[in-house]
Amino acid sequence: MIRKIADILKEKKRTYSFEFFPPKTEKGEANLYKTAAAFAELGPDWFSVTYGAGGSTRQKTMEIVDELQKRFDIPVMHHFTCVGHSKAELKSIIGEMEKRNIHNILALRGDAPEGEDEWKPAPDGLEYCYQLIELIRTHGNTFSIGVAGFPEGHIDCPDKETDSKYLKIKIDSGGEFVITQLFFDNKDYFEYLDRAKKVGVGVRIIPGIIPITNYKTLIRFCNTCGATIPDRVHDIFRPLDGNDEATYKAGVDFVVEQCNDLLAGGAPGLHFYSLNKVNPTKEILSKINR
Ligand SMILES: Cc1cc2nc3c(=O)[nH]c(=O)nc-3n(C[C@H](O)[C@H](O)[C@H](O)COP(=O)(O)OP(=O)(O)OC[C@H]3O[C@@H](n4cnc5c(N)ncnc54)[C@H](O)[C@@H]3O)c2cc1C
Repeated sequence: MIRKIADILKEKKRTYSFEFFPPKTEKGEANLYKTAAAFAELGPDWFSVTYGAGGSTRQKTMEIVDELQKRFDIPVMHHFTCVGHSKAELKSIIGEMEKRNIHNILALRGDAPEGEDEWKPAPDGLEYCYQLIELIRTHGNTFSIGVAGFPEGHIDCPDKETDSKYLKIKIDSGGEFVITQLFFDNKDYFEYLDRAKKVGVGVRIIPGIIPITNYKTLIRFCNTCGATIPDRVHDIFRPLDGNDEATYKAGVDFVVEQCNDLLAGGAPGLHFYSLNKVNPTKEILSKINR
């Protein structure tokens, strides 16, 4: 049986994991398996595959998780959101995961589909992530469950303290570890750990790391997810905009420094948003003090 992440966390002081998204084309999917093969050589603790905001990539997530596990014998975490699903549909998908030997889920509420301003639960659906966790837990300990964490506070949450209280509810409902939203100022991560500890969250909080390869893409990405780009990051990458080689090199240097500082400060590993590319993540990993 495929290993559960909660069990891996009991054994290892630090973990390294890589996140993929389901490609839209067959060629993209074939490339993803080549990328995953290169990542498999780096000894990952697990892979994860995102769950699209709607449309065909959602079924693809399960197919890709299944295929990655079969090809590489590495645990693959299935991201899973409440968006657009009734409770009955959510239950049926969870049952399908169990049948396919998928035992690791990143439980998420998800965001409003593109074009809709406000998050609304689907008819007969769930409103918050913790309710999805409760639903998954009706299967007992079949699944290891991770949740999302937001070092700067979730974009719709009134303040950081309230955000920590909601995190605690997710953990009390059955969440076993946290993977954070991307961030660039490590102070945000360490302060988040302090707030989480204060409200009694004792599980691992693994920083989510995004390699920087393009200034404009970075701005677009951060606008979507609400992560702040500090002045220091603008100052490094704005002058390099349009120079791919220099941006790549500066991006590797920046993220290596960020990761080393996180690990030295006690971060229990790193989760990389690989964007389905081996590099620069592989190069970054080779340069950090693991
Ligand atoms: C590592 C990571 C991976 C992700 N992967 C995906 C993905 O694959 N697909 C995707 O669509 N999205 C993904 N997301 C984005 C995520 O779905 C969104 O950020 C979403 O807006 C929040 O999800 P959540 O599970 O944290 O929601 P929740 O914890 O439910 O929080 C949502 C909002 O409700 C508030 N809230 C929470 N609990 C309560 C409560 N008990 N009472 C009142 N208010 C409450 C929170 O403050 C927040 O504002 C990912 C995010 C991260 C960090």
